Amino acid sequence: MREVLTALAKLWKIDDAAKGYDEELRTLPAKIEAMRRDVEMLESLLAAERTQVAEAEALKAARAEDLVERREALGRAKSKASRSRTLKESDAAEREVEATRRTIADREREISTLEETLTAKRATLDERERQLGEAKSLAEEEASAAEARLAEVGVAREQVVIGRDELVAALPRRVVKRYEKLRTRDRFLPVSIVRDSTCVSCRMTLPAQLCIEVKRSESKTGGALELEDFLVCPQCHAFLVHVDLVEPPAPDAG
Ligand SMILES: [Zn+2]
Repeated sequence: MREVLTALAKLWKIDDAAKGYDEELRTLPAKIEAMRRDVEMLESLLAAERTQVAEAEALKAARAEDLVERREALGRAKSKASRSRTLKESDAAEREVEATRRTIADREREISTLEETLTAKRATLDERERQLGEAKSLAEEEASAAEARLAEVGVAREQVVIGRDELVAALPRRVVKRYEKLRTRDRFLPVSIVRDSTCVSCRMTLPAQLCIEVKRSESKTGGALELEDFLVCPQCHAFLVHVDLVEPPAPDAG
């Protein structure tokens, strides 16, 4: 029984040590992915703003072209006015000149508004580009650090789990099955290393008789071991293993 309980305690120590690594192996790729998504989001914001600027530029170009045409029309209207022979012709020509002048003034205002908008948008665009550049290099730095850590963790985990298969092989199949099931719990441990009379998994004070049995269980011998031969906490069902099996007692100083 002693060897088997020691194997169970060792298995738990290995899995407990690997737990942190497993967590990192699980969360690091998600972290890298999140950073990539942030950069992509900034890029799409920037693309939308570039489109807005391009649209405003196109509109301004169209208005400028129209302004040229209106100025030419004004020239024609003016010459028509100078050539008018009757009062009626002269009035009509004057009205055309005035109307064209108003349109020209409108266009000029529109163009100047568009110019102001463009100046503001270009400044935003510059700022966004600067932010994107920073975010990109930061994300690249962090992603490569995370990837390096990922590789490190993979190697460290390999080291930690050396010998695990042998321990599993040394344990009754049903015990391993139960252990794996207990291991998926969040609140409790699968194995409780009992030091005094408390279950370290759930903090329950174990019954005195059970404590004595836990301490004695190492010396139990004979027959093939079954799941029923293992002592468990009445409250959290963790396997109970006495600490002496994990950390042999220090020689009595006397
Ligand atoms: Zn317990």
